[in-house]
Amino acid sequence: MLTRQPTLDLADLERPALEAALEARGHPRFHAGQIFRWIYGRGVVDPSAMTDLSRELRAMLAEACTISTPAIMQREKSIDGTEKFLLRLADGRLVESVFIPDTPSMTFCISTQVGCAMACAFCLTGKMGLVRNLSTAEIVGQVRVLADALHLRDARFNIVLMGMGEPLHNYDETMKALRILADEQGFAMSPRRITLSTVGILPALEKLAREPVMPNLAISLHAPTDVQRGALVPINRKYGVADIVEACKRFPLKRRSRITFEYVMLSGVNDRAEDARRLAKLLAGLKSKVNLIPLNAAAGIPFERPSDETVDRFAETLAEHGLTVSVRKSRGRDIRAACGQLIVEGQKRSAGQQLAVMM
Ligand code: SAH
Repeated sequence: MLTRQPTLDLADLERPALEAALEARGHPRFHAGQIFRWIYGRGVVDPSAMTDLSRELRAMLAEACTISTPAIMQREKSIDGTEKFLLRLADGRLVESVFIPDTPSMTFCISTQVGCAMACAFCLTGKMGLVRNLSTAEIVGQVRVLADALHLRDARFNIVLMGMGEPLHNYDETMKALRILADEQGFAMSPRRITLSTVGILPALEKLAREPVMPNLAISLHAPTDVQRGALVPINRKYGVADIVEACKRFPLKRRSRITFEYVMLSGVNDRAEDARRLAKLLAGLKSKVNLIPLNAAAGIPFERPSDETVDRFAETLAEHGLTVSVRKSRGRDIRAACGQLIVEGQKRSAGQQLAVMM
């Protein structure tokens, strides 16, 4: 019987793994750097166009390897310049990525899962449940596709892992993706330009604290007490507010950097002066900044956005208590690209399946 080696997806490999794969096929390891520069530096995925490789190596790549790349299904531009990309993955699943031109720098908002298991009460993606994790190739692939589509291959941009999914619930693939993005022969991104946003899955957060490629950290806190947060972010029943704040205090911060605490503001739920005072007390002594996100309301979300005055008053109370505060401007709401609005129809799971994945 004829046995064939399975096709190798180069887009899924970190450079050391690519070096090993080349060596195993009888090619020198150093070609991995060249291949990385083609794929990530120049956006070339056709091996025959990789002109500084030997003919044998190009033939081997064409024969035995692929470089999987998400396909753009739809592209929508908001009146504020924000662009939403609907991408199709190899198995037909769909995922969304968002380009925000000025926050103040250019930012790619990238997904780490199709759907999400966290089921936060105000988030539309959470309503989908988890469909599946994205692979490393699919996470980095979003960056490759957006950089090409927007002609930003050589530009400086930031990445926020704030699209669909919970990055720490897809830990290994996410970390591998960050190492590829940071690779000097790849996108050569400074980890300081990458922000990972998480509900705070404690064991994963502690693992993250020991990673060589360490992104900026944003914690989706949303409430200062366990009672309030437990009702909004179900996983808080497992990893409570005090534990998360303690883990943040231990988190190794680079010089001048701070942990961002995201706080979705829900009218009458977590927007009272008392909540602001409790939040300030909770974060006292932490190198933090609070990012208030007035709710992006949607049908099926049982909350309302507070008035601008309420948001401003809340921000002032925090500032009076010595915290650094910003209010996130809602971007791309007209194309449903704003925080918590990413949902792909036809991929929803039942609530039962959603819970099974989470427990
Ligand atoms: N799972 C990660 C990252 C994805 S969500 C996390 O929870 O951090 C990115 C941010 O958008 C989170 O802070 C999330 O709470 C917020 N968000 C979700 N739904 C929202 C909504 N309807 N309005 C405003 N922000 C929302």
